Amino acid sequence: MASDLDLDKSDHDQMVSGRSLWGKSGIRPAWRPIEQSFSTDVAVIGGGITGALVAEHLTARGFSVVVIDREEPGFGSTAASTAMLQWEIDSTLAELEDYYGFERAAGIYRRSGAAVAGLSKLIAANGIPCGFRPRNTLYLAANQEGARNMLEERQLRRRAGLPGVYLEHPDLFTQFELDRDGAIYSPGSAECDPLLLTWALIEMAVRRGARLVSASVAALHSEGDRVTMETDGGHLIEAQHVVLATGYSMPGLDMPKLHRSSSSWALATVSQDPANFWRDRALIWEDNHPYLYMRTTADNRIVAGGEDDGTIDPQARNRKLPAKIVAIQEKMKRLWPKADTRVEHTWCGTFGETADGLPLIGPLPEMLHVFAAYGYGGNGITFSYLAAQMIGAMMAGMHRDWFEDFALDRDGPGLRRFAEDLVRVGDELR
Ligand SMILES: Cc1cc2nc3c(=O)[nH]c(=O)nc-3n(C[C@H](O)[C@H](O)[C@H](O)COP(=O)(O)OP(=O)(O)OC[C@H]3O[C@@H](n4cnc5c(N)ncnc54)[C@H](O)[C@@H]3O)c2cc1C
Repeated sequence: MASDLDLDKSDHDQMVSGRSLWGKSGIRPAWRPIEQSFSTDVAVIGGGITGALVAEHLTARGFSVVVIDREEPGFGSTAASTAMLQWEIDSTLAELEDYYGFERAAGIYRRSGAAVAGLSKLIAANGIPCGFRPRNTLYLAANQEGARNMLEERQLRRRAGLPGVYLEHPDLFTQFELDRDGAIYSPGSAECDPLLLTWALIEMAVRRGARLVSASVAALHSEGDRVTMETDGGHLIEAQHVVLATGYSMPGLDMPKLHRSSSSWALATVSQDPANFWRDRALIWEDNHPYLYMRTTADNRIVAGGEDDGTIDPQARNRKLPAKIVAIQEKMKRLWPKADTRVEHTWCGTFGETADGLPLIGPLPEMLHVFAAYGYGGNGITFSYLAAQMIGAMMAGMHRDWFEDFALDRDGPGLRRFAEDLVRVGDELR
């Protein structure tokens, strides 16, 4: 299946519009045009949060790395992110169990938890100033049926050894002043400023010798033990390994069948009186379609987003911005009446999802020495950290069976159901 995002149509302007609030106090990494052809151990294509995490990790492992971006690093979907660093995945544990069985689903969830913990440790160990705060999460039910499902989800999570408690309406209301039928309250997540984090990680890689160059990679050729990248200016970059961290399109390649694109809209309010925030300033998200998510910022704003839909045409996405913002404001006010809903920033962005809510990480089946690092869905940044660790291990020759859980050619639920439907139709015709 061909990509639904044409490579030429995935520039920052096409992917993101409006201006989010991130990166105000940061120093942008120096980014220079490519001047000649060259060779390197590893070429990372894409200088967003994924490319930055990969470059930091691979330079720490001793590889010589170049990060290539055709536009200013960070201003793709990274700048649009609301940067809730969650281990809870867009697909519930129950859904993943349905797709892949309990043991595999539980392993995926535990690895997501370990990824947030690892990212938190990386930020703390290097004192990265990126507004990072550990946060609890409140996952809210939309209605009574949703609350029953959530209780079951919590029981399943307990079986998997995952932390958290289920709160019924009275507890949720008295402890959090939130009028919903139920919620799962969990520790172990966090928040940050994604642009500050990206730039700091790139700087760390640069201090270890990485180069950051401006070029658009137009084509990849893998031959023998080398990969050659053609850039738009006619220069060639040769590498032993290439990591694709290009957001939601692959240079000159089709996206895997599991992939689909959608858009999300977001706002940041004026600064609030901190006394008016909900308990713990927990990250809030809901089990609803379309859904609402909310967090607070270091300068006491509320960032809220959601209203996701399948729009990918940039003009159509932008035209919807005013109405989507009003919808988010109204939902925010209903959920948290103390919020001052005056907005100072509004933006929207297109992002990638997969049929099972999991990222696409690992070798490209059709191209030797090329790895994909696509941290999809609402916890894309958590998955980007996981991608950096996994690809680093793969390059060092390590293999773990669970790497297959994120493989590009995995037998995802959509595909399996499609195949089952074909068998059923075949049986009916016989
Ligand atoms: C509105 C919104 C809210 C979100 N909220 C959250 C959240 O709360 N938590 C969370 O974890 N995730 C969230 N996400 C998802 C998260 O933002 C993404 O998973 C993450 O930003 C992806 O980063 P990236 O580096 O992979 O891609 P990008 O930031 O898009 O970077 C890719 C880079 O690759 C470059 N590139 C592409 N093709 C080429 C080429 N051929 N040659 C050279 N360079 C190229 C681009 O110029 C770009 O700079 C959200 C996304 C959106 C849109």
